[in-house]
Amino acid sequence: MSFKSKITGLILAGGRATRMGSVDKGLQPFRGSTLVQHVLQRLAPQVSSVAINANRNLPRYQQLAGSIPVLPDWLDGFEGPLAGLQIGLQFCPTELLLTVPCDSPLLPADLAERLHAALVAQDADVALAVTMRQRDSESAARPQSHPVFALLKASLLPQLEDYLASGERRMERWYKSLRVAEVLFEQDDAFSNINTLAELQALEQPATPAIAAMPSAASRTVSVPGDAAGLHVTAAQRLIAEQITPLDASASNSVTVSLHAALDRVLAADIISPINVPAYDNSAMDGYALHGADLPTPADTCVTLEVIGVAYAGRPCTLTPQAGQCVRIMTGAAMPAGCDSVLPQELASAITDTRVTIAHGAITPGANRRFAGEDLQAGSVALARGKLLRPADLGLIASLGIAEVRVQRKLRVAFFSTGDELRAPGQALEQGCIYDSNRYTVFGMLTRLGCEVIDLGIVRDDPAALDAALRSACQQADAIITSGGVSEGAADYTRDILASLGQLSFWKLAMRPGRPLAFGQIRDGSDSAWLFGLPGNPVAVVISFYLFARPALLAMMGCTTSLPTLQARTQMAIRKRPGRTEYQRGIISRGADGQPQVRLTGAQGSGILRSVTEANCIVVLAHEQASVAEGDMVEVLPLEGLI
Ligand code: AMP
Ligand code: MG
Repeated sequence: MSFKSKITGLILAGGRATRMGSVDKGLQPFRGSTLVQHVLQRLAPQVSSVAINANRNLPRYQQLAGSIPVLPDWLDGFEGPLAGLQIGLQFCPTELLLTVPCDSPLLPADLAERLHAALVAQDADVALAVTMRQRDSESAARPQSHPVFALLKASLLPQLEDYLASGERRMERWYKSLRVAEVLFEQDDAFSNINTLAELQALEQPATPAIAAMPSAASRTVSVPGDAAGLHVTAAQRLIAEQITPLDASASNSVTVSLHAALDRVLAADIISPINVPAYDNSAMDGYALHGADLPTPADTCVTLEVIGVAYAGRPCTLTPQAGQCVRIMTGAAMPAGCDSVLPQELASAITDTRVTIAHGAITPGANRRFAGEDLQAGSVALARGKLLRPADLGLIASLGIAEVRVQRKLRVAFFSTGDELRAPGQALEQGCIYDSNRYTVFGMLTRLGCEVIDLGIVRDDPAALDAALRSACQQADAIITSGGVSEGAADYTRDILASLGQLSFWKLAMRPGRPLAFGQIRDGSDSAWLFGLPGNPVAVVISFYLFARPALLAMMGCTTSLPTLQARTQMAIRKRPGRTEYQRGIISRGADGQPQVRLTGAQGSGILRSVTEANCIVVLAHEQASVAEGDMVEVLPLEGLI
């Protein structure tokens, strides 16, 4: 294997660039394009794929980078190059990571090759570029190392995370704890980074033709090292969210439906209230409408008012009570002119047809009166586009007198299962075969999400069959969900075919269950579709669908929702290794102390689907967390409402 296929390139563009007038360094115009594009052009031929670390102007970087991932720091607050390195190592799908700064447009063409040779020869953790620098003609040349031009082992991630956790941020100091190989380069220029606009101008030469587009990452199908920690779940979610965009607002992407048909659909346009709700001041109770000024003020006193008539809901009220008078009123009836309070019937005493007595303190002035427009004001946004319509939303729209609404068209999602061992329920089960369960789970999850489902059945582990299924899915659907075939052991051509039809990333995630995941866009002619290649194991399918596919599909529908979690006391000890997020299936209930408690549903193997069917929640054990003891508080994601 050539050195190139072992290396992922990372362009560090995450700094604040305060000396650049706070315009991101990487985005500075330079010789007809931008600094980052120049760096990319030099770096891409030396590595198997590239990522960019940036913390601001992400859409702009993504626009320049095309399908190349743009990774913001995992740590908040511009914590320096080590923070960029951290997300780079989390992401890195290869054995080695090569970092270069975004302001080194002249970086050597043999940087990767020479650093790699030294790393191997010296069995080092890191290889750094060094140049000889002479301060002035008097002094001797001294070696200067360039810590951000570094080739590192991806397996250093846990050490880096420990170092960052201790509050340290200095790169050179971290390198001191590692085996470092230094490689002397001749070209001092190549490593001179640009810190000010003046330095940039000094380097600027007559513009060369603009670079049309960034070179695309050559191949994303490189194999991943067995012991690499993997990409953080949240980082993967962020990478997906950055790429997914809602269906465009064209008329063909929305439909007008009756209120009944709008349940569980996503609103395509704001609902503006045409009226005040309620339309007029009215009573919240059955009782007596009166002037607040008539209520008895001294303690232990009563007042008796004259009842001059009755106000009914749905009928106009023409009564105008004077001081000392009141009106018997029904809930929802318009408040008679001048009245501002309602005495509930059950608080009145000495009632006759014409008189009612009120004790001091029974109500305060203004009580039980609903104001016109207190629910909704005419002209205000009653529901915003992107709202997933639930029963009360239908009621609210109806309360405005609106009978039809514009909703997003249903998202079309094609799905299939892959594997030679799979048989459909109803077929005979030969030796060594299993029934395809994933397709039914996926069908259920997509249907619950309000998608139009396209079931493409079981696809054999066969290049031609896979190619045909993917092209067909791409033609019919907005998104594709597959299961199986993305793990390392899976037939290699599954990945190759996926990669040949588009830009796919194969991630190894720091999570359990659900370590492998493919994500990207598939193209066939003018058709395209987002693809989520879920793992084959049935529990992993559920978890990775909810974590990665669900939010993305909702985002495509123009809908943003987040899942509420809660804390519960675990009724048992749970073993857990730090360095990956774990999703255990649990049963949450109310403990003897009235507080939520949770226990796991038996064996938690990623193939044991019963662990999900018995569960009513997922216990989420965070990335850094170690084992938890009985009685500890854990985070819980309720399944009700999710499925
Ligand atoms: P793979 O990712 O294709 O290597 O599959 C991982 C595991 O999941 C294997 O044990 C497969 O047999 C199993 N598996 C894959 N697809 C399905 C499916 N559709 N239904 C049930 N099990 C599956
Ligand atoms: Mg398989």
